[in-house]
Amino acid sequence: MLTLEEFECGWDYLTKKYDLGGNPFMTRAFEVREKWAKPYFNDIFCARMSTTQRSESANHVLKVYVPCKSSINMFVKQYTRLIDDREKADDKAEKNRSQKISKPMFGYPIEKHASKLYTPAVFKLFKAELKKTTSYVIVDNSDGLCYEVLHVDSENRESWSRVNFTITIDPQLGLYKCQCRLYEHFGIIRCHIMLVMTQTGVMKIPECHIMKRWTVDARKGSNVKNGNLLQFWIMKQTEL
Ligand SMILES: [Zn+2]
Repeated sequence: MLTLEEFECGWDYLTKKYDLGGNPFMTRAFEVREKWAKPYFNDIFCARMSTTQRSESANHVLKVYVPCKSSINMFVKQYTRLIDDREKADDKAEKNRSQKISKPMFGYPIEKHASKLYTPAVFKLFKAELKKTTSYVIVDNSDGLCYEVLHVDSENRESWSRVNFTITIDPQLGLYKCQCRLYEHFGIIRCHIMLVMTQTGVMKIPECHIMKRWTVDARKGSNVKNGNLLQFWIMKQTEL
């Protein structure tokens, strides 16, 4: 995901290149960019999907299970069926996961930790980010608490593309913060922070960076049935 600076420079580059400076649609789109451009809400946790995706997905599932204009009795019955089916699907996925060991790509201790910690889908994302770390090098590390990483092909990147990022560490909390703010948006550490961790011998993902919902243990003790029932009912009523 782009930073604010990259987005605005990229927009400027695009409008100049295609002579769209006076185009009413482009002007209007830029004026309301904070409502649609991801860099403007990159510090809001997205649970790996956009708000539109989440509501569309929930609506789709509800339409399959709950007939239009159903009574509340029917709604509760069908909603319970929906959750039961989903739990069965999760059990099946968990069984498959335990039978299929996700292979680490590089063999870093932190990667092995991630392979045991995360669900297969999230571990796949973790590995993709780990692969991206090979495109960056640490160019500055003044005091061990602040690192600057630089893209190895920075000279050939687009003029608007950001090539260096600063990562700061809170040693008390074990918290890593990167200028790109991607961790805050996705809840999974991304390549810039990952590079610093692998290059400084961090063996495990720090506790404060583990988002429980992405872990294998997340389902244990979860009780989504009652917690989400009201929310789904309200959604259904709003839709009718
Ligand atoms: Zn970053």
